[in-house]
Amino acid sequence: MSKASDKERDTEKTPFRSGYVAIVGRPNVGKSTLLNQLLGEKVAIVTPKPQTTRNRVTGIRTTAESQMIFIDTPGIHQARSLMNRRMVDIALQTLHEVDAVLWLLDSRGRIGNEDENIAGILAGSKSRIFILLNKIDLISKGKLLPLIQRCSEMLPEKEIVPISALKGENLPLLLELIEKSLPEGPKYFSEGHFTDQSERFMAAEIIREKVFLLTREEIPYGVAVTIDEFSEKQEKNLIVVKATIHTARDAHKPILIGKRGVMLKEIGQQARQELEALLGCRVFLELFVRVDPDWTQDPRSLTEMGL
Ligand code: GDP
Ligand code: MG
Repeated sequence: MSKASDKERDTEKTPFRSGYVAIVGRPNVGKSTLLNQLLGEKVAIVTPKPQTTRNRVTGIRTTAESQMIFIDTPGIHQARSLMNRRMVDIALQTLHEVDAVLWLLDSRGRIGNEDENIAGILAGSKSRIFILLNKIDLISKGKLLPLIQRCSEMLPEKEIVPISALKGENLPLLLELIEKSLPEGPKYFSEGHFTDQSERFMAAEIIREKVFLLTREEIPYGVAVTIDEFSEKQEKNLIVVKATIHTARDAHKPILIGKRGVMLKEIGQQARQELEALLGCRVFLELFVRVDPDWTQDPRSLTEMGL
């Protein structure tokens, strides 16, 4: 019997599965780290600071057996500003549109009111729920059992998987469980696709990540990045990117620029290197800083930033 018909028989036995998987949880529990690890590609920016992720970020994992479309969401938390409210809305809305939900908890933390609220929302969801206890590399094994107990009381009969998104611990098992939970379905995206984000959007996100990593205190939270130009110069194998860093406060502008421009130069250099790796060509990156007092409260500018 030829190899091809063997293969055909195999695929008859195990139908192709596909579906949408949301990654939810409080800020900073490791959602974006998990997404990047499950894909083996960096599609979401990660920083040690909470509330880095502002939009939904989609990552696609395709194998011979299945296609998982992951949606990384902004953290679910109590929101004060208009921007934060929109971020939470995006996260909650996502729950109703998916086949499975990965709910991440930091295994070092206590289960609080906010977690119970999330559990309440998840209890009513029709999707398959996985409770992931993340960052187990940071705790002793003895601490895990009471936490598992607590979670199974809060949300009975849901799968609980302890993981380390950072170290990759238990992720192969997790992928198997997710795969089994998906319905039979088509390959929605072709093989080479690992995200639905445009290069332009990723460029803005990479710049924002560097601002988060290089500046302190409240500065990163007041910052948004827009791309003013993104053009390919084919003859020179070069992409020209011009971007504006918007800040809400006058006082933040000189900090973002730095003494003799050193801060802006550092942000630009780090972002450019990463962009060159992502785009596979040389990048000419020009950054501007603009004071834009109300951008976090202004519906129109939020819409411009994709929120
Ligand atoms: P998000 O806000 O939920 O998307 O969280 P991030 O993915 O941005 O991660 C927040 C911080 O936690 C980053 O500094 C990560 O490196 C760190 N982190 C995420 N997962 C793990 C883990 O499994 N172990 C450890 N030690 N750190 C982690
Ligand atoms: Mg995130």
